[in-house]
Amino acid sequence: MDDDAVSEGDLASLTSTSQRRLGRARGRLADEVYDTLLEQLMSLRIVPGSRVTIDALARELGVSQTPIRDALNRMEADDLVVRVPHAGYRIPPPITRVRFEDMLEIRLLLEPAAARRAAERASAEEVSRLRRMLEEMEELAAGDGHLAYGAFGLRDAAFHDLVANSAGNQVVREALGRLHTHVHLFRLLYDREVTYAAMGEHDEILSAIAARDPDAAAYAMRQHILLSGDRFRRLFDEADGRVQDASGLDAGAPSSDPRHH
Ligand SMILES: [Zn+2]
Repeated sequence: MDDDAVSEGDLASLTSTSQRRLGRARGRLADEVYDTLLEQLMSLRIVPGSRVTIDALARELGVSQTPIRDALNRMEADDLVVRVPHAGYRIPPPITRVRFEDMLEIRLLLEPAAARRAAERASAEEVSRLRRMLEEMEELAAGDGHLAYGAFGLRDAAFHDLVANSAGNQVVREALGRLHTHVHLFRLLYDREVTYAAMGEHDEILSAIAARDPDAAAYAMRQHILLSGDRFRRLFDEADGRVQDASGLDAGAPSSDPRHH
């Protein structure tokens, strides 16, 4: 594990930018806290197996306990944290290989179909929003460090969510959203190659949607998911070893999660 990762009970301090952002948007505070925690999960600044408490988070983020509690409740509902009686919350171990393959399978069923629909139905405004997202991701891919990596992962998730939204099928969008694919994938490893490789594939998807070419959009999405699957599968064993080393025996073996059998 890289030396800027966080040990149990000790949260990474936020960048001053994040702190300013949190201070400003009081109305959406729980959302901001949620996004900040997701970013820290994806960038492995909060390591699998570690514990977080409402108290410590409120101190770290400089906000009251209410938005922290709201954000953690949402994360618990999404299986991103696990409540530990009298001890706050635990960050669950990374997904198992079985879960990884299952997620890939459901994405291959839903996302190429969503991209096909998006090519037929996306509004001009949605196409420009997709383009802006990719521009932001390009900057983040060039950026350095875990926070940029986590932020890239958040935009990646938002890009896929907007493709599904542009397809106009809210049930498909919700089903994909519940998987939290990108949180789980980015938690597997920290590897900048992943972000560079994804950029070109995202461009292909956007070009096909912008060109109103449903077949090309479905194909490009399918290729992206297959290639992304190859990238993470190849690194899966290595990441497993690294994460277990970092979080110690406390985290448990990833394969011990009963939901995954
Ligand atoms: Zn992607």
